[in-house]
Amino acid sequence: MSGTSGTTAQLRAQATAHSAHNYHPLPVMVSGAEGAWVTDLDGRRYLDMLAAYSAINFGHRHPRLVAAAQRQLERVTLVSRAFEHDQFGPFCAELADLAGMDMVLPMNTGAEAVETAIKTARKWGYEVKGVPDGEAVIVVFDGNFHGRTTTIISFSTDEDARRSYGPYTPGFRVVPYGDTDALRAAMDPRVVAVLVEPIQGEAGVVVPPPGFLASVREICSASNALMIADEIQSGLGRTGTTFACEHDDVVPDVYVLGKALGGGIVPASAVVAARDVLGVFQPGQHGSTFGGNPLACAVAREVIALLSTGEYQERSAKLGAHMLARLAAMPESAVREVRGRGLWAGVEFTALSGREACERLAERGVLAKDTHGSTIRLAPPLVISEEDLDWALDQIEAIAS
Ligand code: PLP
Repeated sequence: MSGTSGTTAQLRAQATAHSAHNYHPLPVMVSGAEGAWVTDLDGRRYLDMLAAYSAINFGHRHPRLVAAAQRQLERVTLVSRAFEHDQFGPFCAELADLAGMDMVLPMNTGAEAVETAIKTARKWGYEVKGVPDGEAVIVVFDGNFHGRTTTIISFSTDEDARRSYGPYTPGFRVVPYGDTDALRAAMDPRVVAVLVEPIQGEAGVVVPPPGFLASVREICSASNALMIADEIQSGLGRTGTTFACEHDDVVPDVYVLGKALGGGIVPASAVVAARDVLGVFQPGQHGSTFGGNPLACAVAREVIALLSTGEYQERSAKLGAHMLARLAAMPESAVREVRGRGLWAGVEFTALSGREACERLAERGVLAKDTHGSTIRLAPPLVISEEDLDWALDQIEAIAS
């Protein structure tokens, strides 16, 4: 049974009593959504300026994505990888083509795809690069966010993400984000990969200095290490290009994708790379019951089709420039710093905590998410209208001043 039973207060009390308290959601009980808007149980509408951290890049229930899911629901949803299915080959070929790579390894969540990229890099390091067994090192960056598994939080620099979860997985070396000299100094023959977010989302939409990604590329090539770009949040149109690396004319060895790949309907993630990298896997060496399932593949194929026109990337670039210009024009007494690219911004308030700002915005019908301290993140669906975007920016201006 999936109908709603209870008032907002009853449903909230039920969640508080029976779910682990690993989140602190804004008090907005969403019961419906369309495009850039969600509706709560009492019929109040809110503009979604977070888009599930970019998982809803194409808006809630995009008609083409819903239709693709419905068509597939009528045919077959899951077979496991024990058998073949007719959506798998086309999905892998179409995603590889979108990324300009050869091969795809599909998983479900972002963290699983990052784990897969780590395993890929280690296996490639031992079997192709010739690193002695058990000695591989992966270089990562201060402020990173790559997910919540035990291995991934082992190299997190966020104490909340890491504390009380040891013993930690070894084999990672952390250097300051954006610091090319520190990266160069961290490289040695045991380094099999550098794992980088082209823009650090969870850290507060931190854009690295110009030329940094190109330096990462150059350093990786010079050291025979894989450059792994975690584009789970930055990719698939969010920054005004299909991949955020494109802004720096950089092609990594490995893309890690997730979130928007599932169209906001199903979890779908993937590692995408050249044949000499993903070719290291043989049957039985890695897998997932749900990874690459027919429903996820069908939805993701429609996502890829949406992206192949360039329309969404263009919207993100155009509306994003407008959003960032308006935010940057806000007085310093209200907004201390604005960072971002495309329809993606980190806004640091002068006199408000991020949580306070989000609560005030929610009261005015705008949903955003705080991150560290006085920063909020804005990542509206790429389908948002200019008028709605301007209205949201008016609300931000109003709460900040
Ligand atoms: N990598 C990046 C850059 C992310 O932003 C996230 C989620 O926010 C993840 C990985 C983890 O994705 P998931 O929550 O689907 O495991």
